[in-house]
Amino acid sequence: MSVKFDVIVIGGGPAGYVAAIRAAQLGFKTACVEKWVNIDKDGVKVPALGGTCLNVGCIPSKALLESSMHYTHAKDDLAKHGVKVGGVGIDIAQMIGRKDEIVSQLTGGIAQLFKANKIEWIQGSGKLYADKKVEVTKHNKDVILFEAEHIILATGSIPIDISAAPVDHERIIDSSDALSLQEIPKRLGVIGAGVIGLEMASVWARLGTEVILFEAMDDFLASADSAISKDALRHFKKQGLDIRLGARVTSSSVSKKDVTVTVQDASGEQQFKFDRLLVAVGRIPVTENIADAAANLLMDGQRVHVTGDCSTNIPGVWAIGDLVRGPMLAHKGSEEGVAVAERIAGQYAHVNYDVIPWVIYTHPEIAWVGKTEQTCRQEGLEIKTGSFPFAASGRAKAMGATEGLVKIIADARTDKLLGVHIVGANASELIHEAVVAMEFGASSEDLARIMHAHPTLAEALHEAALAVDKRAIHIVNK
Ligand code: FAD
Ligand code: NAD
Repeated sequence: MSVKFDVIVIGGGPAGYVAAIRAAQLGFKTACVEKWVNIDKDGVKVPALGGTCLNVGCIPSKALLESSMHYTHAKDDLAKHGVKVGGVGIDIAQMIGRKDEIVSQLTGGIAQLFKANKIEWIQGSGKLYADKKVEVTKHNKDVILFEAEHIILATGSIPIDISAAPVDHERIIDSSDALSLQEIPKRLGVIGAGVIGLEMASVWARLGTEVILFEAMDDFLASADSAISKDALRHFKKQGLDIRLGARVTSSSVSKKDVTVTVQDASGEQQFKFDRLLVAVGRIPVTENIADAAANLLMDGQRVHVTGDCSTNIPGVWAIGDLVRGPMLAHKGSEEGVAVAERIAGQYAHVNYDVIPWVIYTHPEIAWVGKTEQTCRQEGLEIKTGSFPFAASGRAKAMGATEGLVKIIADARTDKLLGVHIVGANASELIHEAVVAMEFGASSEDLARIMHAHPTLAEALHEAALAVDKRAIHIVNK
C-alpha cells in the first residue's frame, strides 16, 4: 500500500519549496520529493533543498558578485573618496568558502521551514505514474510508492550543452563550476553573453581574469530595451569585458593545460586559447524520467504543457517554475507555487505575467519590467518615452555611481505605464517602485506626481516620469 498525502511536490527549488510551504500553511498534508545532494568540504554527501537557485544559481552568484565588487572598490574606487587602503589582495578560498557558508545556511533554513510546517522531505528522485501515484527512488536505491490528491511538478532546469564545446567540468565548465573555481583563471572564454555569461564574466574579470565573451546574436542583450543594452554594453567594454557579437564557437579542443576554441564571426574563423571555457547558452527544463509514459503527461516542446493556471492535461497534476512556459526566474516560479497551492485550496489566485521584474546583477545593474520600446513598436502601440541619466542625479554623484539611466515607456493615448527600464546602481531595488506602480495600473503622471525623497537614486525614476511629458527639472527637455 502506498503512503498518501494531500499534496506531493516533485522538486524543492524556489518553485517547489514555496508551493510546499504554502500548501502546508493552507492545512494540506504535504510532502516534497527532492534529489539534490551537495558534497561538503570533507567530501561528505549532504542532501539539500533550494534547487538551482539556492545551491548553484541566484544566491551563490550574488555572493561572488558582492565579494568581487568589494575587491574592485577597495582596489580602484576607495582612493577617490580619500580612503587609503594598502596591499589589497584576494583570498579565493575565503571568497568561495563564504559563498558555500551562505548556501548552506539558506538551504538549511528551508529544511527548518519544512520541519516547522510539518512538510515531509522525501530525499530521492520522484516520478509521476498514472492515477496520481509518485514513485520515489531514494539515494540508497530503495523504491517507495506514494499517492496524493494533487501533485505539483517543479523539476526545474539544467544548463544546455553544445556539441562544439562539451562540458568536462575541468577545462570546459558550466555555471555551477564557474561558482566554485579554486583559482583565478588567467584567460576565461565565455560562450553566450546572456545573463549567466555576463554575471560570471563580471565576477572573474573583477578579480583580474582576461575575459572574452562570444555571443552568437548580432544584438547585445536582445531582450532588454535597446537604449539600456546599448548603454550597458558601453560600460562593460570600459570595464574590459571583451564582448564579441555575431560570434559562434564552432569547435573546441582540450589539453591538460588549456582549451582552444574556434570561433566564426563576420571577419572569418579565428582561434583562441583559454585556461577555462564557460558554456552559458541557456537552460533546458528537466523532463527526462519525471513521468511514466502511461501517465500521458502532455508536453509543449521541451516544457511540460500547462494552461494559464499551471494545470497540466492530467486532472490534479500541476506544473510550475522553469519546467513550464515563461521566463526561467526564481520569483516567477515561486509566485506560481503560491498560486497553485491556493487554487488547490479552492481560493482565487493570480500571477501577472505582464509584470515580471528582470534583473541582471552586473555593474551597473540592469533591471526592467514590462515591454521594451522595440516590442511596443512591433505590436504597433503608440508610445511616449522619458529618460533621465544618473549623471544628473545628486545622489548618484555623491555615491560615485553616475553610469546609466532610467527610461519610462507610457501609452501615448492613456499614459498608462507600459515598461520601465534601468541601467545603473541599485537598479535591482529601484525597479520595484515601477513593479508596484504597474501592478496598480499607474500612469507616468502618477509617478511624476509622487513625492520622492531627496537625494535618492529613486528621484531618477521621478524625473524620467516627468520627462515623458517633457517637464523633467534637472535635465534640459528635448
Ligand atoms: P530549480 O531551482 O532548478 O529546482 C528544481 C529542483 O528539482 C532541483 O533541486 C532538482 O534537484 C529537483 N529535481 C529535478 N528532478 C527531480 C526528480 N525527478 N525528483 C526529485 N527532485 C527533482 N533567477 C533569478 O530569478 N534571479 C537570479 O539572480 C538568478 N540567478 C541565477 C544564476 C545562475 C548561475 C543560474 C544557473 C540560475 C539563476 N537564476 C536566477 C535562475 C533560477 O535559478 C531558476 O529560475 C530557478 O531556480 C527555477 O526554480 P525551479 O524551482 O523551477 O527549479
Ligand atoms: P540566456 O538565454 O540569458 O543567454 C544565453 C545567450 O547565449 C544568448 O544571448 C544566446 O544568444 C547565446 N547563445 C546561444 N547559443 C550560442 C552559441 N552556440 N554560441 C554563442 N552564443 C550562444 O541564458 P543563460 O545566460 O544561460 O541563463 C539561463 C537562464 O537562467 C536565463 O535565461 C535566466 O532565465 C536565468 N538566469 C537569471 C539570472 C537573473 O535573473 N539575474 C541570472 C542567471 C540566470
